[in-house]
Amino acid sequence: MAKLVEKTSRYARSDAAFARARKLMPGGVNSPVRAYRAVGRDPVTITHGKGAIVTDVDGNDYVDYVGSYGPLILGHAPEAVAAALTKTIDKGWTFGMPTELETQLAELVIELVPSVEVVRFVNSGTEAAMSAIRLARAATGRGKIIKCTGCYHGHTDALLVQAGSGATTLGTPSSPGVPASLTADTLLVPYNDLDAVRAAMQAHAGDIACMAVEPVAGNMGCVPPAEGYLQGLRDLCDEFGVLLLFDEVMTGFRVNLGGAQKLYGVTPDLTCLGKVVGGGLPCAAYGGREDLMRQVSPDGPVYQAGTLSGNPLAMAAGLATLQVLRDTDAYLSLELTACDLATGLRTAAAQAGVPVQVTRVGSMLGVFFADAPVRNYEQALTCRADRFAAFFNAMLDEGVMLAPSAFEAWFVSTAHDAACLETTLAAAEKAFAAAGTIR
Ligand SMILES: *Cc1c(COP(=O)(O)O)cnc(C)c1O
Repeated sequence: MAKLVEKTSRYARSDAAFARARKLMPGGVNSPVRAYRAVGRDPVTITHGKGAIVTDVDGNDYVDYVGSYGPLILGHAPEAVAAALTKTIDKGWTFGMPTELETQLAELVIELVPSVEVVRFVNSGTEAAMSAIRLARAATGRGKIIKCTGCYHGHTDALLVQAGSGATTLGTPSSPGVPASLTADTLLVPYNDLDAVRAAMQAHAGDIACMAVEPVAGNMGCVPPAEGYLQGLRDLCDEFGVLLLFDEVMTGFRVNLGGAQKLYGVTPDLTCLGKVVGGGLPCAAYGGREDLMRQVSPDGPVYQAGTLSGNPLAMAAGLATLQVLRDTDAYLSLELTACDLATGLRTAAAQAGVPVQVTRVGSMLGVFFADAPVRNYEQALTCRADRFAAFFNAMLDEGVMLAPSAFEAWFVSTAHDAACLETTLAAAEKAFAAAGTIR
């Protein structure tokens, strides 16, 4: 009984805060996964974050692996980004006129991401993917697109089909309000399956504008590309005159300074960026081959616009973030920390006797409660979401913050240190044991 009281009080203020929020916003949140429904409890409400730690309204600290779902590669409120924002904010934060910050960030993105020769900034990954697909359709004069089941490219209508974590977690693979006519031109193939891509391209030869793919799938957990998969896509696209679109909203500046395209040495025609590129402010981008990007308005006829696109605060945060990533040994430290974390998690799961598959590409991890390796969405769905929920709740109680879904990646930041890992792995021992009690 004493234990129950103690447990309730640990989250009392969060519970009260969320009761208010729930009356005012659908599910009490502004993005569905945040409502924690998949883990059978209400969310904690956060007051602040610093480094690898977030703190809730009850004063509980957590080692955070959500990282705002990817942007916070330097952790919360890193000094370099905070300083850049402070410096910028005194000068006003949006003009609807060009600023030098846009040019500086464009230069850096073009320098770092192999496929990007010309870039356009937008406000969200959703917008970037939507715009890149519009451009691909305009440039090819073709209507159909191919996407992989379990890959997420934002919630734009034509792409909201079998779209991974958010939709999967809630059991709504697509959404009402999206007319069949808007997804009729979206062809679905399993991830990591080149034969399916070839078959789709053969069946619709001359009709396919682009193949969109997350080069490391991050919205069904973390599922790395099979050996040769990305090069195979490049070759098939070239054979059938289809544009290759890498959605690197999650992987860009995350798995490598030049994104997955640099890590795997495969150059797409078009690339979407988001998350890290804005350093945690609303910012995303699409870019690619110059001949394609010059078709975007006003150089070309493909219309796309945005009142707050390229706003100074987002540009300053993105610029400061990318400069730190470029000028320090950030990726070395991310690699070492994430590797230790993955190894520690595997060991803890093995000790608890719980079958778990831990995947990792750079500082992106996947933890699947599954018996066999996960290579695509169908296999991801076989993982034990009930065990994940028990694991999640135990981790939360022990002060480790994970995304509340079995289908989300974990993100390590440069702020995660040895003490964070120690806390995490001690918590994981208990949490895997708790997961193991779910038969
Ligand atoms: C997060 C994400 C998006 C959507 O970005 P938003 O900024 O949430 O609209 C698109 N594609 C991928 C691969 C993502 O991970």
